[in-house]
Amino acid sequence: MSVSAPVGRVLLLASALLLTACSAPSGASPSADPTSALPLPGPEDGSGTSRPPGGAESDRDAPAGEGPLGARVVVIDPGHNGGNAEAPDRINALVPAGPREKACDTVGAETASGYTEHEFNWDLSLLVKERLEADGATVILTREDDEGVGPCIDERAAIGNEHRADAALSVHADGGPETGRGFHVITPGEVSGFTEDIVEPSRLLAEDIRREYLVGSGVPYADYLADEGLDERTDLGGLNLSTVPKVFLEAGNMRNPQDAALLEDPGWREQAADAIARGVAAYLMRE
Ligand SMILES: [Zn+2]
Repeated sequence: MSVSAPVGRVLLLASALLLTACSAPSGASPSADPTSALPLPGPEDGSGTSRPPGGAESDRDAPAGEGPLGARVVVIDPGHNGGNAEAPDRINALVPAGPREKACDTVGAETASGYTEHEFNWDLSLLVKERLEADGATVILTREDDEGVGPCIDERAAIGNEHRADAALSVHADGGPETGRGFHVITPGEVSGFTEDIVEPSRLLAEDIRREYLVGSGVPYADYLADEGLDERTDLGGLNLSTVPKVFLEAGNMRNPQDAALLEDPGWREQAADAIARGVAAYLMRE
């Protein structure tokens, strides 16, 4: 497989960063700004694009520390894991989740044709990682492959905290009602003694990802929950236990046929990853 494609994308991404950073005032407008849409690389041939677990480490375009995102640390948390379904005792065990305990992890959703959420989350996370690394960021994943169990939600949060991530993103797709479609970004609400310090910066991170994802992915705001693609929650351990700015992206509804067709399309995932990377980069360049 050729790895030359990312180079063009890097240039696009770099120019996107400059434009986005200059045109996005802090406290960004809640509505999508179509002027920030940049030409995306056309859908690429998705055949055989699956990469070996952790393989992105070896095809960096820039060493960490060089490029517009140099010295920035991003933790990407691909939701769930491929072994969860076979380990109910471990994933149902209660762990700290903020004021209350919650199950260690869950199995996640899947499309009607059987594309599982854990696999989607893994596939998309690797693509986002690759893009951010191409711009010099240090990217850490919370799991090393798609075959293990967990880690539990408290450990996922701890990984972002330990690395003092500048931004953390948990990647998911929803298992909503078949008739509802769209994406949403979940932000931490105020939980006394837990999230006070991350509510505001996480909201900005969510707004940057929402803006770029709406334009770049072609997936609309969720029409069955959230408010214009944003949902504030206080019940998620992965957010409550984070001490660094963190959001969850629910990239689409796996149970909806229209969304599922996109989520299952490797070419679409490349576009979605471009958009997510632009959103994260825009947030990192606010500061
Ligand atoms: Zn999920």
